[in-house]
Amino acid sequence: MRNILIGFAVVLIIFTVIRSNFTVPGSPEDVSPDTQTCREICGTVKKGETLFDIFRRYSLDAGDLLKLGEASAEIHGLRHLYPGRTYKITVDENNRIDSFDYWIDEENMLSVKRAGTGFSAEKVCVEYEKKILHLGGIIQDNLIASMGDGRERVMLALSLSDIFAWDMDFTSDLRNGDTYKVAVEGYYLNGEFRKYGDILAAEFVNSGEIYNAYRFETDGETGYFDADGRSLKRAFLKAPLNFRRISSHFSRSRFHPILRIYRPHHGLDYSAPAGTPVSAVGGGTVIFSGHRQQYGKLVIIRHTNGWKTYYGHLSRIVKGVRKGGKIIQGQLIGFVGSTGLATGPHLHYELRISNKPANPLTVKMPRGKAVPKTLIAEFRIFKNQMDTRIASIAVPRYTAIEKREKTGT
Ligand SMILES: [Zn+2]
Repeated sequence: MRNILIGFAVVLIIFTVIRSNFTVPGSPEDVSPDTQTCREICGTVKKGETLFDIFRRYSLDAGDLLKLGEASAEIHGLRHLYPGRTYKITVDENNRIDSFDYWIDEENMLSVKRAGTGFSAEKVCVEYEKKILHLGGIIQDNLIASMGDGRERVMLALSLSDIFAWDMDFTSDLRNGDTYKVAVEGYYLNGEFRKYGDILAAEFVNSGEIYNAYRFETDGETGYFDADGRSLKRAFLKAPLNFRRISSHFSRSRFHPILRIYRPHHGLDYSAPAGTPVSAVGGGTVIFSGHRQQYGKLVIIRHTNGWKTYYGHLSRIVKGVRKGGKIIQGQLIGFVGSTGLATGPHLHYELRISNKPANPLTVKMPRGKAVPKTLIAEFRIFKNQMDTRIASIAVPRYTAIEKREKTGT
């Protein structure tokens, strides 16, 4: 009896292994040719791949390929497939195509089904299932590396940096051991994660200081607010070297420059690799753009509140950033260089209030509109719900990890 049971268990395990081989979704490179009898072929379009290539790989009927192309032509041409998009082909036992699904974009799918002697095609709007996900972690090296692998995680890291861009300089303020917690929408399809949606709430602990953000809609506009309902938006960004811009600029080489700030004089010097993009900290009008003595290539912006910001030693000023031109907050204006009186590549950043130099790191920056009184009760309810979620997220303790690495135990 016992042997029979063991035998049965072995058969069950083998069966499970085979089954799981057949249902690997979205990874055609893992599908070996002997799985052709499988009725579902799922995959992601590779660079340069055509539908013909896919048909040939799975020995599908070239006649079907022609008819499929004809049927789809009106809705979405299949002559060129886009790398990274997913498809699903179902095939009957005679290797004839029953249906073909292809993602046109995040929201739409081309759905082709066998009909009579040919195929009929339609565009289907994709209905995602939304869930609220809880993520948390600890900063080691930099934000992107700390938030995990994959495109979706990178996008999430950048969204998080955008939310706190007025309070925190993600390129130079982060410390190993800082922590983040995020409640974020996750979009699912057939139980499978597809992408992140909006961040609903976030907590960031930077050098022991806690920053909170809650996403809330006021007067038809959505923004992020702190625990007291004050807008996180300010007239000026924390830093002229924007984390999102720098990250996308250097992403190819996976290089994340460690920036250092010096204060040798009235301004701030950001030591950064030549070519690092420089963004305007606030909106305003360009009042100077060109070369000026020790400053080298310089841009001066007068902001709506009368304050002025200076960006010096630039290697290059972006075309179109000219005297009299309007600038919006975060706009790319130039690149770090060492023009003028500079020993190495760095950005000279200066803030002037009534023409007197001020320290941009300590000066009180005007904020955006707070949650209006009429909505504050509703905001608090949302905040409390989010606080419960955020509090449920556990992050590892950094000190333990650090000690182990240092002592090698
Ligand atoms: Zn300087």
